[in-house]
Amino acid sequence: MSDVLDLTRDLIARASVTPYDGDCQAMLGQRLLAADFRCEHMHFGDVDNLWAVHGGEGPTLVLLGHTDVVPPGPREAWASDPFRPEIRDGVLYGRGAADMKGSVAAFVIALERFVAKHPDHPGRVALLLTSDEEGDAVDGVRRVAEVFRQRGERLDWCITGEPSSMTKLGDLLRVGRRGTLSATLTVRGVQGHVAYPDKARNPIHQAMPALSELAARRWDEGYETFPPTSLQISNIHAGTGANNVIPGELEVLFNLRFNPSWSAARLEQECEAVLQGHGLEYSVRWHRGGEPFYTPEGPLRAAAREVLGQYCGAAPEESTGGGTSDARFIAPLGAQCIEIGPVNASIHKVDEHVSVADLEALPDLYQALIERMLLS
Ligand SMILES: [Zn+2]
Repeated sequence: MSDVLDLTRDLIARASVTPYDGDCQAMLGQRLLAADFRCEHMHFGDVDNLWAVHGGEGPTLVLLGHTDVVPPGPREAWASDPFRPEIRDGVLYGRGAADMKGSVAAFVIALERFVAKHPDHPGRVALLLTSDEEGDAVDGVRRVAEVFRQRGERLDWCITGEPSSMTKLGDLLRVGRRGTLSATLTVRGVQGHVAYPDKARNPIHQAMPALSELAARRWDEGYETFPPTSLQISNIHAGTGANNVIPGELEVLFNLRFNPSWSAARLEQECEAVLQGHGLEYSVRWHRGGEPFYTPEGPLRAAAREVLGQYCGAAPEESTGGGTSDARFIAPLGAQCIEIGPVNASIHKVDEHVSVADLEALPDLYQALIERMLLS
């Protein structure tokens, strides 16, 4: 059995449902320590983070990943135990196989091989792991990035191992992600009898035109390869259940996915201008999930395109689609960020899996990228 398959199976067997790490990082830290890395374990609350570095002066290339997984759901729904890795017909099954214990194992093996082959390489190679990617993402990379900012830690390039591929390993290179901003809006009216509307103020009637305006707005036409910014209302609640009572309050949840033509702060202002323009009596709680990031054409993107073309047989599609990832916390430190990982068709589902052939190609692919960035 190959090293990467072995290590991925070991990681899957360590049940690490977010935000718990299941001792994955302790084991990986031991391996990297043996490979001459300097390892720092950062614990915040229930969350484990590992920062492992090799090398001295010069630019820093970071490999970024997570050891936590989403809950498997009912055991009966799975063909085999989600935490007992099993290979069937050249495919490895288990929770985290694709998202993203396979990439984490491939990172570690690529790093071990790279430093064994080039012990005095220029620059620094590093691995950053968290156990808080799938959950709140508060005590994970977000907190580590604050520590880095205080220390003045220099990060130049970052490769996230999130499963980015669509149908074939390396068919997609992620070069950016949209930002995300959530709101909990409360519109206040005056409760009353529906037969006496003049003695009440209906928050549903008052909110509807404002919500229509927000939902219908064309925020922009897109940005480079980013789709247009979009606002989606996800929940509306008002009313007592009785059909003769005008409710006193309306609550709405909405979320914006936005491209780099906006910041969260500017979107908040724009939305509130609409609410105020309609004369609503309201309060709103904003949650800034992450600013967008974008890695324009440059050395990292060019190297990734070349390596993927070479290892996967065709140039990848370069995309900024999908949800968010922890790269949103690393990009603001000044690092160029890209994401390359296995096929994502089964992630977060039952019978999550990764092809053994793809898994076995990953360490070479990551190692080639590290060499391209630090040695040339
Ligand atoms: Zn993931």
